[in-house]
Amino acid sequence: MVGDFMKLLLHICCAPCSIMCIKKIREEKIDVDGYWYNPNIHPYMEYRARRDALRSYSEMIDLNVYYKDVYGLDEFTKNVSRDISKRCDYCYTDRLASTVKYAKDHGYDSFSTTLLYSPYQNHEKIINVCNELSKAFDIKFYYQDFRPYYREGLEEAKRLGIYLQKYCGCIYSEEERYQKRIERERIKEEIDKEWQQYKKENKIEDLKK
Ligand code: SF4
Repeated sequence: MVGDFMKLLLHICCAPCSIMCIKKIREEKIDVDGYWYNPNIHPYMEYRARRDALRSYSEMIDLNVYYKDVYGLDEFTKNVSRDISKRCDYCYTDRLASTVKYAKDHGYDSFSTTLLYSPYQNHEKIINVCNELSKAFDIKFYYQDFRPYYREGLEEAKRLGIYLQKYCGCIYSEEERYQKRIERERIKEEIDKEWQQYKKENKIEDLKK
């Protein structure tokens, strides 16, 4: 495999996800640079926190990173708001197409993405987008399933004190994060209510402490 991939451009969604990808790629003696382009991350303070975490981490591991520094709430929401259930299709394609164009214009022979590391992403869809772009731009797609290293990468990120995000990136995923918590709380309240009713009907007393 090493001979096939010499100079690789790696799309990086965030520093924690990049740890194991870079480690594994470097283990194969492939020359890797990073590419930051994530206009899907909102709001701005979150975007900045993730970008700056990568700046610090890349210095730590001596990784060259190109920053296409675009905070794109307007553009992103304009493109996905018609059907937010399909927003990840646009999100993957937009970020990876930019990576591939940059790689092609700057002498890289291959590309890949840290999106292949997360078990929370649609892995098959990412592979499909990468394969399509590889064909369209005549540049090799380096595939490795980085998901088995998820725990290891997370532990390393914690050990190094790297900023860890709490949601995927877009404003919709931020909303989902709270929706899940709200739903859990609602279910707990319902169960508590039913339990109180059950205790009353069956004359169950609470144990004295
Ligand atoms: S959920 Fe994640 S991958 Fe999907 S659109 Fe939002 S930021 Fe992009």
